[in-house]
Amino acid sequence: MNKTPKKITRRDFLKVTGGSLAIGTLAMVGCNSNSSNGTTRGGNASLEPATDKMTYRTTPSTGDKVSLLGYGMMRLPILPTPAADGNVVDQQATNELVDYAIAHGVNLFDTSPAYMQGYSERATGIALSRHPREKYYVSTKLSNFAPNTWSREASMRIYNRSFEELQVDYIDYMLLHAIGLGGMENLHGRYLDNGMLDFLVEERSKGKIRNLGFSYHGDIEVFDYLLSKHDEYKWDFVLIQLNYVDWQHAKEINPRNTNAEYLLGELDKRGIPATVMEPILGGRLAKLPDYLARRLKQQRPNDSVASWAFRYCGSYPGVLSVLSGMTYMEHLQDNINSFAPLEPLTENEFELLFDTARLMVEYPLIPCTDCKYCMPCPYGIDIPTLFLHYNKCVCEDNFPQSSQDENYAKARKAFLVGYDRSVPKLRQAAHCIGCNQCVHHCPQAIKIPTELMRIDQYIEQLKQNSI
Ligand code: SF4
Ligand code: SF4
Repeated sequence: MNKTPKKITRRDFLKVTGGSLAIGTLAMVGCNSNSSNGTTRGGNASLEPATDKMTYRTTPSTGDKVSLLGYGMMRLPILPTPAADGNVVDQQATNELVDYAIAHGVNLFDTSPAYMQGYSERATGIALSRHPREKYYVSTKLSNFAPNTWSREASMRIYNRSFEELQVDYIDYMLLHAIGLGGMENLHGRYLDNGMLDFLVEERSKGKIRNLGFSYHGDIEVFDYLLSKHDEYKWDFVLIQLNYVDWQHAKEINPRNTNAEYLLGELDKRGIPATVMEPILGGRLAKLPDYLARRLKQQRPNDSVASWAFRYCGSYPGVLSVLSGMTYMEHLQDNINSFAPLEPLTENEFELLFDTARLMVEYPLIPCTDCKYCMPCPYGIDIPTLFLHYNKCVCEDNFPQSSQDENYAKARKAFLVGYDRSVPKLRQAAHCIGCNQCVHHCPQAIKIPTELMRIDQYIEQLKQNSI
């Protein structure tokens, strides 16, 4: 499976997409109907998934039989307005999703004190504690990002609170959260100098933690350093960003990222299983441009576009579980269908996806995964919604590059009207003051203020018809 995709040329691109397309603009890009943020995904979601066909993988250190589909609890259903205490999670809808997942064989639930504005662990605890403890594995993280939580006391408070919120006596999978952000300095401040990593290792020996790992978000020096200490820390698993674009193109999208081929290879060498985040790249692999989606549909008409990305991740034996943040029942059903049971990709299907990846990076969108780590912006900018709108317009051929474009009037209107509809005036790009506070929170290393300024300038040009 260690394929080395050859570099694609514009001529290759034309051959695949059709020669009449307007290369040089993004105008050829159209979206299929799949969406990580909407409710429509199509494909096999309409099929009632089997309750007894889930594929499981084994954690080497504990022998846990873990479902290949893991539930990422970072995109739970939200209430129309937050509750009086600020809680944003729709608990009833969350319970229904969790019940359905467990009934269909999903047994890994991954959360963090940082998700859902701090309410994910509580919601996860409420939903899971309604089930026998042996029915699920709970995974959470020590999310001591802010420098004022780097002290041992503050980190301990976060750690102890996780047990209370999750209503458990032990945590099955505990991670150092977002390793790589802030480089070695952050690793030292958050986990080494304050003794927290040694403490977590000790907690594992006492059984309070059953498996210990870390989630990796860029800066290869930190990844290599932690793996070089494997003999000492004995990592039970590592959470990495893996999908068919990031396999060999992660660095092209963001020079700070690491290609997943390297990450998984290093873990495989040491016999450490990987759990996977961003299998559909923040939704972008569920809503491919039309011409790319059509190629997948031709091969497997009943399968959703997203299912290809999930099967891709599951086809690597070193992958323990593929985490997906599922807000809607339709997404949960579709993803269960992808893994109950897993049908691994054939060689030809691997080739097709690597080809798809090559074509996608020819026209990079803003690589926002909607993780919301950059939020809240102190000046009220709705950063992820802005980027989602921009990417959606690019995908849907509503991103005019010239007033000579055939669809200029329609595309201009769609971009501007959609912008005002999706983002309230006071939260739009024009109000960004460039303070840079958001930048170091972004795992994708997006130059957020620069991109916002670019979008704002583009909008002004559209308004003035001066493109
Ligand atoms: S740079 Fe802009 S978007 Fe980022 S925190 Fe500052 S005002 Fe908000
Ligand atoms: S801009 Fe970065 S931090 Fe913010 S939602 Fe997108 S990927 Fe996440």
